Amino acid sequence: MMATTLPPETASAPDLIAIAAHELRTPLTVVAALAQILERDVQKQLRRGAPAANEWLDEQQVLLAKMHELGLATVRLKTLAEELLMLRGTEAGCQMATDLRVLIETLLSDYRLLAGEHPLRLRADEHPCLVWVNPTRIEQVVRNLVDNALAYSPTGGTVDLSVRSSAEAVELTVHDEGCGIPTDQLEAIFMPFYRGTNSTELEISGSGLGLYVSARIVQAHHGQIWAESVPMHGSTFFVRLPRYELRQFSSGCGTVEAL
Ligand code: ADP
Repeated sequence: MMATTLPPETASAPDLIAIAAHELRTPLTVVAALAQILERDVQKQLRRGAPAANEWLDEQQVLLAKMHELGLATVRLKTLAEELLMLRGTEAGCQMATDLRVLIETLLSDYRLLAGEHPLRLRADEHPCLVWVNPTRIEQVVRNLVDNALAYSPTGGTVDLSVRSSAEAVELTVHDEGCGIPTDQLEAIFMPFYRGTNSTELEISGSGLGLYVSARIVQAHHGQIWAESVPMHGSTFFVRLPRYELRQFSSGCGTVEAL
C-alpha cells in the first residue's frame, strides 16, 4: 500500500487555459468531423435518389451509428465544459461550522437511490465532527470521491466511508474495492486533466479534473487530501480538515451561539 501527498500548487491560470483549450480540441475535432461526414453522406444519398428497400435499411443504420457517436462526443464536451466551470469555484468562500457526519449522511441518502450494485456504508463517530468550511464546496469534494469510487469499481463492490474526529482534525475516508491505482500514478492523479491508465483500460469516461478541483478546495480549507491503493484490490482517499471546536462561531451570515 502506498500513500501519496498532494503535489504543491500545480498549474497557473494561463497554464490551465492552455491545457483546457487543448483538452477541448480533441472532442471538438471529433464533433466537427462527424457532422461533416453525416452531411456528406446525406447529400450523396439525396443526389442518388431512393435506394432499394434493403439498401435503405443498411444506410439508415450506418447514419444512426454516426449520429450516436456524435451524441457521445457532445456529451463528453458538455461534461468537460461543466468541469471547467468548477475550476472557478475552488476558493473557500462563505464558511460556517458544519458537522461533516451530517453532511455525508444527507449526501449518502441521495446516492443510495442511484448506487445500484454498490452498497454504500458509513462509519462515523457518535459525536459531531465539526469543521469550519463552505459546505457546498466540501460536498463537491465528497461527491467527486464517491462518484470515482463508483465509476472505478465497474464490477460492483462496497464503498465504505468513514468520518472520525481527533483532537486536531476531522478525517474522512472513501474506500472502494475497485480496480485500484498504479503506485506510480498516485501523485499524478491530483494534477489537472491527468487521467490514469485504468480509465483508458476500463473505458471510464471523465476529464481528469475532479481530483484536481477537490485538492484545490481542500487546500483552500487548510486541509490535506491523499490516496492509497492496492492495484486490483481498491483505493482509499483521505481528506483531513482542521477540527472546529469553539463555543461561539460565525454562521457566515451572522454570529450564532453554540450550546
Ligand atoms: P477522471 O475520473 O475524470 O479521470 P479525476 O480527477 O476524478 O478524473 O481522477 C483522476 C484519475 O485518478 C482517474 O482518471 C483515475 O485514473 C484515478 N482515480 C480516481 N479515483 C479513483 C478510484 N476510486 N479508483 C481508481 N482510480 C481512480
